[in-house]
Amino acid sequence: MAEGKLRQIAVYGKGGIGKSTTTQNLAVGLGEMRKKIMIVGCDPKADSTRLLIGGLAQKTVLDTLRDNGDKVDLSSIMKNGFLDIRCVESGGPEPGVGCAGRGIITAIGLLERLGAYTEDLDYVFYDVLGDVVCGGFAMPIREGKAKEIYIVASGEMMSLYAANNIAKGVQKYAVKGGVRLGGIICNSRNVEREIDLLQAFARELGSRLIHFVPRDNVVQHAEIRRKTVIEYNPSARQAAEYRELAGKIDQNTFFSIPTPMSAERLEEILIEFGLMENIKDAYQI
Ligand code: ADP
Ligand code: MG
Repeated sequence: MAEGKLRQIAVYGKGGIGKSTTTQNLAVGLGEMRKKIMIVGCDPKADSTRLLIGGLAQKTVLDTLRDNGDKVDLSSIMKNGFLDIRCVESGGPEPGVGCAGRGIITAIGLLERLGAYTEDLDYVFYDVLGDVVCGGFAMPIREGKAKEIYIVASGEMMSLYAANNIAKGVQKYAVKGGVRLGGIICNSRNVEREIDLLQAFARELGSRLIHFVPRDNVVQHAEIRRKTVIEYNPSARQAAEYRELAGKIDQNTFFSIPTPMSAERLEEILIEFGLMENIKDAYQI
């Protein structure tokens, strides 16, 4: 992609898979390369930027709108975090009330009106919860905001089911708009033959495994101090992994329209890598 051109990236994946951890660490890796970055958290949990803003109070866009009505300025919903990464949380409705995706729509609209998408930005990341890319959660890609998608997955079966479903959503918007899959990020769960499995899975999707991020306890050590690994321990091996991922995304030129697989084909792949056997053992089927 052209030099100096804003890249808007949506990071999808099953809840708890490591989207927010990976996105924030990767953003810091890009920040070290002097890139200008904004992260828009699109998860009702509103914890997409906590490792970047540390102790700062972060109020979500929806909460701010509820409390202040229309009198909202940019500084009340956007905080500068580590390396001046701009941090926004869309927030969500009260649990059980209304569509969670609406917060994303409202947040993006407000950010546009308040001039958050400045010329100097290199990257905007949308950290989006998505077991299924339905209605509101598809918003960043549906409206042509994010044209570039990465899916975070591990070798665990449910995360691959979710990743395949997300790929179906991406395919739909790829056909209509210019949305492309930039790759699969493996956030390891120490599953046997995980790299091979993820490579096979990505290949089947017509995509590729862009990076294998190991599982490492330094992530938790940094997290309890509300820091990314790179800030907490810049010389840690895990910090180097996130820098490598950042470099690969920055240099990425392989973008594809995904070819999601049938449930049967996915199960075949899982069986091929011995995953279904583990599942059967675990459930004593
Ligand atoms: P998501 O945003 O997808 O819901 P999170 O980024 O919040 O997931 O990650 C869930 C938990 O997994 C976090 O509390 C984090 O400590 C842990 N985690 C994520 N990635 C790693 C990793 N590479 N190594 C160890 N722990 C990780
Ligand atoms: Mg998250």
